[in-house]
Amino acid sequence: MLSKLENWTRKVQREAKLAKLSRKSVKIVPDTQNLCGRPFCQLLAEFEVPTDGSGGGVGRAFEQYLFTRCLNQGKDGILVGSKADIEAQQASCCFCHFVHARIVASGYTDEDGTAQCFASCPGGAEEVWLRLRRANGEAVGGLLRYGERVLFVGDRRYPTPLAGRIVGSGELEYSRVQHWLQLCDEMHHEVCPVPAPLKERRAGAPRLLRVVDVERNCLTEISWQEKYVALSYVWGNASPPRLYRRELDHWRQAHSLKKLRKSMPQTHQDAMHFVAQIGQRYLWFDSLCLIQDDPDDLRKGTSMMDIIYEGAYLTVIAAAGPGADCGLPSVGHTQRASSQPTVSIKPGFSLLLVRSLDKHLNDSVWATRGWTYVDSILTE
Ligand SMILES: [Zn+2]
Ligand SMILES: [Zn+2]
Repeated sequence: MLSKLENWTRKVQREAKLAKLSRKSVKIVPDTQNLCGRPFCQLLAEFEVPTDGSGGGVGRAFEQYLFTRCLNQGKDGILVGSKADIEAQQASCCFCHFVHARIVASGYTDEDGTAQCFASCPGGAEEVWLRLRRANGEAVGGLLRYGERVLFVGDRRYPTPLAGRIVGSGELEYSRVQHWLQLCDEMHHEVCPVPAPLKERRAGAPRLLRVVDVERNCLTEISWQEKYVALSYVWGNASPPRLYRRELDHWRQAHSLKKLRKSMPQTHQDAMHFVAQIGQRYLWFDSLCLIQDDPDDLRKGTSMMDIIYEGAYLTVIAAAGPGADCGLPSVGHTQRASSQPTVSIKPGFSLLLVRSLDKHLNDSVWATRGWTYVDSILTE
């Protein structure tokens, strides 16, 4: 816990620094670890971060600490401040700065000037809830937008599944994806089983499924029991190489797709790379797996699209752009647009705004296409 003298010294130093900065009219972003004296910020300042992973994650440890410090937290949690207070503190207090940015993003105007923000930590979660309430007790609601949550950033040394993770702009961690798949294989017999009706419907489908073999770089046919990855995407303005009947035998020869790969849209190239990197072999996508000048093959293929997506080991959804030229961010050349607002409160103690997968998908061009929407429902 900081002594009064230390607090006072820091306050004076901070004010001197702010005065200097404002003279130069530089945009002020508060230093990490600078916190104001309002109730929730003070609790953040006085929290001692466990260094040995005890307490089951830093968020859990903080939740327990809150419980011992404030037995009566009120139904909305602990006061962060009024909208005006937070605005006044946001240049110097790192947490008020973070909350202020959320208020601005929410578009909340606080017309009568009485809204107050409260923070709480729900039991068993690595999360902070932020709520607004008017002085007359009327609830304004949550401060975050649809699909957004504020999570404690987990410590890599003591992983907790519910904690947040800062995702950089570097290459995708394929081993993490493999780990998720392994968990799904081992633990999700109830949650992710092969749907029973699928087995029956497959009886009416062709015995084999045409796929891209990313190991041998060619087209091949597999039985429905084999694992394959399905790609769901929008063509947009891309014109991917298409499979024509007269070329089928050629593309079935090993390594025949090697040359073609360069002329493929980035999303197809990246999807092939992704499949290989996660240790899988087969990939299904429409332009090379359905014969585009064979009405019968096309009709059969499109009529069993439900079985193809439902039966995939996993489905890659290319939702990062308006077409197949956009690629899969952090797989190929396309960089991931990292926009995760964070607040670093002290070493090992940070908060992160995360946006749900639903939110990302809802905002995508991919979600506006009827057919790809069907893919997402079937893959669930
Ligand atoms: Zn504050
Ligand atoms: Zn699963």
